[in-house]
Amino acid sequence: MSTTNESLAGPASAGAADAAIPFNRSAIEGEEANHIGQSVSIGQIAGDQSYSRRCQALLEEVLGAPKVLLTTSCTHALEMAALLLDIGPDDEVIVPSFTFVSTANAFVLRGARIRFADIRPDTLNLDEKKIESLISPCTRALVPVHYAGVGCEMDTILAIARQYRISIVEDNAHGLFGKYKQRWLGTFGALATQSFHETKNITCGEGGALVLNDPDFVERAEILREKGTNRSRFFRGQVDKYSWVDIGSSYVMSDVLAAFLYGQLEVWRQIQEKRRRIWQRYDAELRAWALDRDIGCPVVPEGCEPAYHMYYLILPSWQIRQALIALLKSRGIMAVFHYLPLHLSPMGQRLGGRPGACPVSETMSDRLLRLPFFNSLDPASQGRVIDAIHDFRF
Ligand SMILES: *Cc1c(COP(=O)(O)O)cnc(C)c1O
Repeated sequence: MSTTNESLAGPASAGAADAAIPFNRSAIEGEEANHIGQSVSIGQIAGDQSYSRRCQALLEEVLGAPKVLLTTSCTHALEMAALLLDIGPDDEVIVPSFTFVSTANAFVLRGARIRFADIRPDTLNLDEKKIESLISPCTRALVPVHYAGVGCEMDTILAIARQYRISIVEDNAHGLFGKYKQRWLGTFGALATQSFHETKNITCGEGGALVLNDPDFVERAEILREKGTNRSRFFRGQVDKYSWVDIGSSYVMSDVLAAFLYGQLEVWRQIQEKRRRIWQRYDAELRAWALDRDIGCPVVPEGCEPAYHMYYLILPSWQIRQALIALLKSRGIMAVFHYLPLHLSPMGQRLGGRPGACPVSETMSDRLLRLPFFNSLDPASQGRVIDAIHDFRF
């Protein structure tokens, strides 16, 4: 089952007045191509070589995190988090229903029971008021997702986690370089995960990172990520041969991809600035129109600095949302929806999910529409999206 209607990459266009506007499109932001050539010519194309180290050092410095490890995906970083926390069949993990499958799947793979939490109707983030009723003596982890790059209510969530001794794993796939009360998203949980998938702000096509905010996890994380071996210690000269010492898998990103990623990370401020402008223009030109028609727009609470991952509208009904998709499509504009609530998916229902259990997730899933949003979205194309929406009658 697909969790979205995303058909992401549209055909490349020269920006003609009637050219298709895809939902997402990749673009070179800096020195990505040169770095890839360099990684190949110096013979460093496997993982954990100079470009990986540069990416990790940059993220550690910006975030102030003790350790960042690049991974093959955010999904794999979440799997590593589940392994590091020794999550097993006797454990329960609380995740929002309104998220991507990997947020839950990483823990289901360990045999854990998933408790699906509903979201807030304003930010679409995990509803902190619904967490306590889901906690049991078996609850081991809580996975907030900073939806659209807007921070969850972390003060309350951290207090609950502390009170019940539950670990926090932040799924920060949307939130890199966003802040909650002056603090970077991805630095609140003992562990946090990042995605560099093509749809995310900073990308290398497929990739991710595990942010280790609790240094106690670093040594074992290096081992799990290197097929259960102490290869990282060997390369640092800390042991004279490397060996199989723990469970693990192959979660290391190729340095070819890290070279691409470094080209993006070097210019992360410019990327975020482009995205901020796109977000603010949508907001400036759509919010009043939307409010007049009972259409919702993103809500950014006081104290949150968004990561500008997406801009969305919440239409009054599924029928109206589908009509707007059709109008945009007739003008060559691709707008997409997500997420089908996890608790209603075939797998979620096998795990105990029932219709009506997370009513806010259910209604948002029917009504939310994401607008085209990518770093190279040019002002004329964005204007066409906005004009088309202004022409919408229902
Ligand atoms: C994109 C995404 C993921 C998965 O990221 P990959 O790098 O593709 O594995 C996980 N969680 C959320 C919330 C996402 O948006």
